[in-house]
Amino acid sequence: MSVNGQESFDVVVVGGGAIGMAVAYYLKSMSAGCHVAVVERDSAYTLASTPRASGGVRRLFALPENIELSNFSIPVYEQFPELMAVNGEKANISFRKGGYLFIVPTADVGNLKRNYETQKKLGVNVDFLEPDGLKKRFPSMTTGDLAAAVHSLDDGWMDPYAALMAFRKKVRSLDVALIQDEVVSIEREGALVRGVTLTSGKKLKAANIVNAAGAWSPLVSQMVGQTIPVTPLRRFEHYFECEEQIEPLPYVKDVNRLAFRPEGKGYTGGVPTLAEPRAYNFEVNHEYFDSVVWPALAHRFPQFEKTKCKNTMSGLYDQNDLDGNPIIGPWEGQCENFYLATGFSGHGLMHAPATGHAIAELILRRRFETLDLTRLGWKRVENNTPYPEQGII
Ligand SMILES: Cc1cc2nc3c(=O)[nH]c(=O)nc-3n(C[C@H](O)[C@H](O)[C@H](O)COP(=O)(O)OP(=O)(O)OC[C@H]3O[C@@H](n4cnc5c(N)ncnc54)[C@H](O)[C@@H]3O)c2cc1C
Repeated sequence: MSVNGQESFDVVVVGGGAIGMAVAYYLKSMSAGCHVAVVERDSAYTLASTPRASGGVRRLFALPENIELSNFSIPVYEQFPELMAVNGEKANISFRKGGYLFIVPTADVGNLKRNYETQKKLGVNVDFLEPDGLKKRFPSMTTGDLAAAVHSLDDGWMDPYAALMAFRKKVRSLDVALIQDEVVSIEREGALVRGVTLTSGKKLKAANIVNAAGAWSPLVSQMVGQTIPVTPLRRFEHYFECEEQIEPLPYVKDVNRLAFRPEGKGYTGGVPTLAEPRAYNFEVNHEYFDSVVWPALAHRFPQFEKTKCKNTMSGLYDQNDLDGNPIIGPWEGQCENFYLATGFSGHGLMHAPATGHAIAELILRRRFETLDLTRLGWKRVENNTPYPEQGII
């Protein structure tokens, strides 16, 4: 569509990672006539977070909203081959229902138990395990310092790059305009945004704009005068192998943030830390594995005493420093047609489908219909009232 020589869209999505793609996919699925553009500055996704993710998907959260985001999204990933098929060609994202396991010492059992009750209420297939039960299920694990665990049997992991490529191919087939360019400014007139200007000098008119720029979303928000508490938090993902046999493991996570899962002949994971200075820093610290990750692994599984790190990749979380949870919805009271879908703080891949669906509902139907995500909206940021997870994050 062209208005006064300028291309005009119902929705311009800034950022073509998992979140931006999911928004575009659900807009077109719910309203085939909706004119959608996704502006992505780097179609190779050199620095984007999505392809650098570990690929874990889990329902193990405390907040009902986070559990529901997973309850919606994980089955979507399970059905990805069919849902993202184009001309009969299925997508392959290597989805593996390997399970997820949270393990805790005595001090954290209360939280774990409360969260488990919430998860059960919301239909999650979870087992609460005492140390004996845990040892029976995972005999190689050192459990002496653990008081309990929760095993979520239907969770797992996938290949994030393959998921992103599947989304891209699908939205292109649905006539979403995939524009390789960078949004450098956003036109705002009072309480409305009107369009974007790109590096190429091109301008796009937009009835709605979605900020899905991940770790770069604070810069996009600044273009409309909005300050958001999202910051770029570097974390390392290590690939390592083990010479000794361990029984098949789920995605294992502890309160000190050691998180890893099987991958190919070895394992992938790491120990993210919130103490990391916030910056667009992709430098790899090769000491980190030996000084932090390896001791944590060897403590939990003696087999890792002899492990070797084969590869380390760095990537950025779109960390919400207010409360570690996403901000989903319009800039209420200021710019009602400027939407945020950011601040996923390490959970953006697993929550992308539900987020895309929710933003599509807000834009097309003016309200949340499937999941009520009001408490994850902008108001809590404006009112400085954090809504954090309790327990392992
Ligand atoms: C090491 C690591 C491990 C992780 N593990 C997991 C995990 O196991 N499970 C999970 O759910 N999540 C995980 N995450 C988090 C997850 O990767 C992110 O939350 C998610 O990918 C965010 O998706 P996104 O689309 O918002 O961001 P991105 O994938 O970063 O996409 C944003 C895009 O916006 C583009 N962009 C930015 N500014 C502009 C602009 N001005 N104009 C045009 N384009 C622009 C960028 O080029 C980028 O491609 C992990 C992250 C890291 C770093």
